[in-house]
Amino acid sequence: MSAAQTPVRLGVFGGAFDPPHNAHVALGQAAISALDLDQLRVLPTGQAWHKSRPLTESQHRVAMSRLAFEPIARAVVDDREVRRSGPSFTVETLRELKDQYPRAQLYLLLGEDQRRTLSSWHQIDEIARLAIICAAGRNAADQAWAGSSTGTPSALAHSLDMRIQTLKMPLMPHSATDIRALVATDHNIQGLVPSSVERYIHEHHLYRPH
Ligand code: ATP
Repeated sequence: MSAAQTPVRLGVFGGAFDPPHNAHVALGQAAISALDLDQLRVLPTGQAWHKSRPLTESQHRVAMSRLAFEPIARAVVDDREVRRSGPSFTVETLRELKDQYPRAQLYLLLGEDQRRTLSSWHQIDEIARLAIICAAGRNAADQAWAGSSTGTPSALAHSLDMRIQTLKMPLMPHSATDIRALVATDHNIQGLVPSSVERYIHEHHLYRPH
């Protein structure tokens, strides 16, 4: 990337994307427009330490993420986390991006379920120093935040809440868990994922019981 293309406002959106669905795309689009991002960096996770379920092979999650996000202007899929060996931490990704683009303001994008877990993230203080954290609601209950990132009030949770921005987007109750279950039981997922992703899932027989 040349100096002229160096992103100044850089959105960082990580997820398992197993599969990427329309709410992920809507969150990315909302962030680009609300935060006036120069670039949205979409990062499929490696075998994330906080997910108990083994994820679908990374090559499929990266390919589906490209199909879902790359039609959006300014979105770029970055596979650095799946190429990392061992557990992959968000703080490491933010540090690498900050080293790569020292002048950039990083915006860490996430949904409300992830916001609630933030105080247990590896080096969360460093994360909050490196990036402005922006959280989108996932359902109506998220509209009224409980005032704590963990459900257990703590100084850290409280000080984090003070610093997190709300990303407004239409509430979409989609989840990758539901979509995998629908495919596994031979139900239609039209309208829940981009049609290119739907085709990919069927062509590669993903999420089918063996
Ligand atoms: P799973 O059901 O497998 O846990 P998921 O649907 O939560 O998956 P992830 O890939 O884990 O999808 O999510 C990536 C990011 O997108 C997370 O920050 C998550 O909070 C956010 N996100 C996922 N679904 C929604 C949604 N419906 N509305 C807003 N944010 C969402």
